[in-house]
Amino acid sequence: MLKLNNSHIVKDTDPRLRNKSESVRLPLSKDDREILQAMLTYVRNSTDPELAEKENLSPAVGLAAPQVGIFKRMLVAVVDEEVSEDRYVTREFALVNPKIISHSEQRCMLSNGEACLSVDDRHEGYVPRFARLKIRAYDLLADKEVEFRVSGYTGIVLQHEIDHLNGVLYYDHIHPTDPWTKNEKDIVIE
Ligand SMILES: [Zn+2]
Repeated sequence: MLKLNNSHIVKDTDPRLRNKSESVRLPLSKDDREILQAMLTYVRNSTDPELAEKENLSPAVGLAAPQVGIFKRMLVAVVDEEVSEDRYVTREFALVNPKIISHSEQRCMLSNGEACLSVDDRHEGYVPRFARLKIRAYDLLADKEVEFRVSGYTGIVLQHEIDHLNGVLYYDHIHPTDPWTKNEKDIVIE
């Protein structure tokens, strides 16, 4: 079975990371299913310190196929979502051909900016994202085409990963001369 670790991660020094990835043919082939499952296992295990050490993983909430050298429109995310004060549920995504079908005008951003497994240099600044959005995709975990809404942190993670499918990196969104600038209506997430 395919197993992914840090030796598979494509860095932003590799121009292939700027490629636009190809749509995936459905139903999923056995190979594509295995890649997506291996990506999900990487992310799930990456936040367990012991497993991360043992299997050479870096803590991640999401991973897109181009980051492991597979230029297909597939991504995974494992996000602890705050449902009410101090109550979290873990939401897992294993998406194929994800598409943002609608979004808010309002933007949001993480107070400390973003980071990425494929980016070793630190790029400081706000990364503005849609505050709320609706996504359509085939979801491996549901094993069907799904449509769902996300907002806030979960939405940021999924937009970061969808960007990878288009060869876009988080620092492309940072204001070049005034990295911590924002609009009045933007929501800053701690
Ligand atoms: Zn990334």
